[in-house]
Amino acid sequence: MSSEVYDCIVIGAGIQGSCTAYQLAKNQQKTLLLEQFVLPHSRGSSHGQTRIIRKAYEENFYIQMMQESYELWAQLEEEAGVELYRRTGLLVMGPENSEGFSRLQAMMQSHKIPRVVLEKQEFRQHIPNVNLTDGNGALMDTNAGVLYADRALRTVQRLFQSSEGVIKDGEKVIDITPGAVVTVTTGSGVYRGRSLVITAGPWANRLLTHTGLQLPLKVVKINVCYWKEKIPGTYSVSQRFPCFIQMEPKEGEYDIYGLPSNEYPGLMKVTPDHHFVLDSHPTYGNIIIGAGFSGHGFKFGPIIGKVLSQLAMGQVPSHDLSPFGIKRFQSHARSSL
Ligand SMILES: Cc1cc2nc3c(=O)[nH]c(=O)nc-3n(C[C@H](O)[C@H](O)[C@H](O)COP(=O)(O)OP(=O)(O)OC[C@H]3O[C@@H](n4cnc5c(N)ncnc54)[C@H](O)[C@@H]3O)c2cc1C
Repeated sequence: MSSEVYDCIVIGAGIQGSCTAYQLAKNQQKTLLLEQFVLPHSRGSSHGQTRIIRKAYEENFYIQMMQESYELWAQLEEEAGVELYRRTGLLVMGPENSEGFSRLQAMMQSHKIPRVVLEKQEFRQHIPNVNLTDGNGALMDTNAGVLYADRALRTVQRLFQSSEGVIKDGEKVIDITPGAVVTVTTGSGVYRGRSLVITAGPWANRLLTHTGLQLPLKVVKINVCYWKEKIPGTYSVSQRFPCFIQMEPKEGEYDIYGLPSNEYPGLMKVTPDHHFVLDSHPTYGNIIIGAGFSGHGFKFGPIIGKVLSQLAMGQVPSHDLSPFGIKRFQSHARSSL
């Protein structure tokens, strides 16, 4: 074991771990980012061509975080000199009289999020290639769009390294020993850090076992659509064909997402309420957990990185994290401590 002690060790070089590590390094924290696979890899949740970015949310706390996340994505673009976001608009369709769709509309209105409500008769004119099912309403989040996922991930990792951050890939963490200084063992080394951030995506519970905690995360298959072009060239980001969300579809339990690209990882881990976990470990205050991104976490990457880094530095987070606390799972979360 080396005598070196990092200010923070981050496990998992997906978008959340990479953004957290970058924020820490920017704050002069000596940071090690550990990744089990050789980078870049396509076995987590963050790889692929595109992810939707939007402010259209039913919850106040997500909208507030997204206001800042848009700014932080723009800052990243500027720092790295690369384009990460492309505005396409997002079409949201949902049962007109449902609680969810009405709440979304009300939230967008109260936060003055630029939007266009599309009445049935004008819908075809604006979006000729999509059918609005009877009983559904439609609106556009006009500043929504796509993030270039692979490029974003590479960019954040590059910025982290140029801020003196250290990435060790191909190093799977196999043990964690909590303490005032946390010891992290991988297949090829032993590292020590004053704080530890676990952002291990679908592997979160495997790592948390070493800390005596299990979160109620469930694997689900996400509904992502790729539209087939009836008229070649019309369904593309460059033609401003919007991404879309069908809320509360008749066909299933989960919303359907559509966006332009050709890839996809298919699995994600969801929490019972589909809200994230952003919290300190209930027993070990210097172990920070970012998990359960429930199929909608990519767009929040930079702001999640910021709040997780604040927790790791012992600071008060700049957003209210009470909706994301572990306590809310009291009846589900298993702690052997
Ligand atoms: C199909 C699909 C579509 C999606 N669409 C959208 C969208 O349109 N918009 C949006 O905002 N979000 C979307 N999401 C969600 C978003 O992609 C995820 O919330 C986000 O990528 C999660 O990032 P992460 O860093 O938590 O996890 P991951 O990307 O999975 O990263 C976790 C990392 O931890 C590493 N790791 C795990 N265990 C260990 C270990 N023992 N040792 C070392 N390293 C370890 C893994 O190898 C992995 O690299 C989608 C997700 C899916 C699956």
